[in-house]
Amino acid sequence: MSNLGRAPQLLFEEPVPPERSLVEITAAREVDLGEGTPVRRLLPKRARSTIGAWCFVDHFGPQDIAAGRGMFVPPHPHTCLQTVTWLVEGEVLHRDSLSNEQLIRPGQLNLMTAGRGIAHAEESPPDHPSVMHGVQLWVALPERSSRVDPSFDHLPQLPVAEASGARVTVLVGELLGERSPARTYSALLGADVALDIATEARLPVPPDFEHGLVVLSGEAAIEGSSLWPGSLMYLGSGRSSISMRTTGPARLLLIGGEPFREPLFMWWNFVAHSAEEIEQARADWVAGRRFGEVHGFDGPRLDAPPLPPGRLLQRG
Ligand code: MN
Repeated sequence: MSNLGRAPQLLFEEPVPPERSLVEITAAREVDLGEGTPVRRLLPKRARSTIGAWCFVDHFGPQDIAAGRGMFVPPHPHTCLQTVTWLVEGEVLHRDSLSNEQLIRPGQLNLMTAGRGIAHAEESPPDHPSVMHGVQLWVALPERSSRVDPSFDHLPQLPVAEASGARVTVLVGELLGERSPARTYSALLGADVALDIATEARLPVPPDFEHGLVVLSGEAAIEGSSLWPGSLMYLGSGRSSISMRTTGPARLLLIGGEPFREPLFMWWNFVAHSAEEIEQARADWVAGRRFGEVHGFDGPRLDAPPLPPGRLLQRG
């Protein structure tokens, strides 16, 4: 998944003190990924660009792609982040500049660690299922890990826990005593919560984490407030559980982590800890340095958009 905006704005977040016990619901921005792939962008927001180290949440579908090409995101670069891909329905083919080629299906996790730099492309495979539905998220790397070697992990199976009618798949981190094998660089949680008809569940969570909830399908009352697809609920730290109630089947995405306490820069597909690193990453992509080649994709790579006029944000 890529930030395809023609003139993306630079986002800069100062570390903010955790807002304990806060509950906040914000609406997604509708973004077109190109080729008719609409996406609900739930993070980043001007007012809040991170939940833990999660810094980007795109929810796509369910979309009928039987008559079309489906997802088609040409090769593009990333730095200082991990991409996490999780599907409810459909299939996505990933290719990257480390020569990985991997089809992902529902129940599996693709985790790409950009570190100092990687390029990848994502598309619906030629004989794709008729429906595409899923999420792609980014995790910002802390400064101490920002230049790790790039890597790609495909996790075909993830731990599942049951809790009062909820089927919880642990994508990242630990929940209900189950731990995901996904590699992480900060204290982080990601889980898919599948609820049956008329379920009431209470999930224990670490009080020092802040959390975010997205309804992937159906509708749910979280801590007493209604939530449906297209909205993100933010829950501040200081709670030891999250209550969930449904009147019908629903799928939820739960993300969380320790509040990210480092300044963060985001522009186009780059995350960095300084404006200079963003400028250098763009220059390296334009010059064909650092990120390597994605082979096997039928089409040209994405061009970097122009930087905003003038110098990027000054530090301090
Ligand atoms: Mn991407």
